[in-house]
Amino acid sequence: MLDKVVIANRGEIALRILRACRELGIKTVAVHSTADASLKHVLLADESVCIGPPASPKSYLNMPAIISAAEVTDAVGVHPGYGFLSENADFAERVEKSGFVFIGPRADTIRKMGDKVSAITIMKASGVPCVPGSGAPLGADQDENLRIAKDIGYPVIIKASGGGGRGMRVVHNPATLLSAINVTKAEALAAFSNDQVYMEKFLEKPRHIEFQVLADNYGNVVHLGERDCSMQRRHQKVIEEAPAPGITERQREMMGQRVTDACRAVGYRSAGTLEFLYQDGEFYFIEMNTRIQVEHPVTELVTGIDLVKAQLLIASGEKLPYVQKDIEIRGHAMECRINAEDAKTFMPSPGPIRLWHAPGGPGIRVDSHIYSGYNVPPYYDSLIAKVISHGDTRDTAIARMKNALAEMVIEGIRTNIALHQEIFNHAAFAQGGLDIHYLERRLGLK
Ligand code: ADP
Repeated sequence: MLDKVVIANRGEIALRILRACRELGIKTVAVHSTADASLKHVLLADESVCIGPPASPKSYLNMPAIISAAEVTDAVGVHPGYGFLSENADFAERVEKSGFVFIGPRADTIRKMGDKVSAITIMKASGVPCVPGSGAPLGADQDENLRIAKDIGYPVIIKASGGGGRGMRVVHNPATLLSAINVTKAEALAAFSNDQVYMEKFLEKPRHIEFQVLADNYGNVVHLGERDCSMQRRHQKVIEEAPAPGITERQREMMGQRVTDACRAVGYRSAGTLEFLYQDGEFYFIEMNTRIQVEHPVTELVTGIDLVKAQLLIASGEKLPYVQKDIEIRGHAMECRINAEDAKTFMPSPGPIRLWHAPGGPGIRVDSHIYSGYNVPPYYDSLIAKVISHGDTRDTAIARMKNALAEMVIEGIRTNIALHQEIFNHAAFAQGGLDIHYLERRLGLK
């Protein structure tokens, strides 16, 4: 078992990792910025090291500072959480070259999956269904690009191979294709120093469905079913659930087989997620996240498997203690991301929390680092709590979530609790199976 782990993150996920470490008897080192000395996990950790000023590039993204903290505290492993350096292959490599265990996949796997064209190529080879597309970076031959788009059929989407979030463009006809390619390339170059772009069919009304996998160092891979994360605003997930409404056992088995085959083929290790768009009964792979995800608790509640503990055990060299047939999906779980932001304008709302009452009761879990008197700093992501509900049925999970949202009290800052309450009262949401544009349409943002 790892003896001591550096938690290279902050907020709720840092506390989540600390709890898993403690359960396993692993000592913890919290690394934090000057703005975060009073974070809950910093107060609870065995040791803490300040690694820099508030701005993330100087602290949570500062590789030498984090590695030095591991050195001076005699730690053996580094858990990157999500965001920050969690999908940075160079960081994983530097951690391992410095003699520490990176709690995640091998650096070369992170690199292969971080390049979307390379990830799609690997997935296709294992029989994972992908979006019809160029399958390769677009070249300079404009006639060829027009021909690719015509073969795929408009609308198409131009996406950067090197990174997420930015540099995506939907093109509806040949007249705007070439300028869209050029602009996306320029944006990708500025954002990720890599101007490779590729083309895919643009799906008009997809759902976002993703599969969770766990793999050890010995080629054993299992999937833990899927999550539906279609409730999104500006591509940010707001509510997630497991399992995905309407997905049959047969579909789960078929997709599960393919995603685990693909993971075996790349020598995957640790927890990972394969993201799909799902439309008209078909799955289309879009990308793989090589880290623990914000929404991992819904999978934990329906499978009974602690994913963060599993990551720590795998990194300690243990074999997966179960095979696929041992994994059962029980009941239904929902997660609401509670953000320090205005429920209507979405403006961030940092500041001191005067009062915090966490909800509770059967089937309710709260993952949060906040406490009465805690000051939410303005420098980071606005996620302050995750409320997760579980029940035998989706209806029970929803009823429990509604109770929890009504019980919860956060005073001093604004939060999006009212937005969640509104969504949970939509008849369409209660039915389930909505597409990724539903929320923005419903909020009048589209
Ligand atoms: P990122 O790395 O930014 O998350 P993704 O490839 O996961 O990039 O795409 C982000 C989002 O863009 C998706 O969740 C979906 O909403 C939209 N998107 C991406 N590809 C397509 C597509 N082929 N058709 C329709 N929407 C897409």
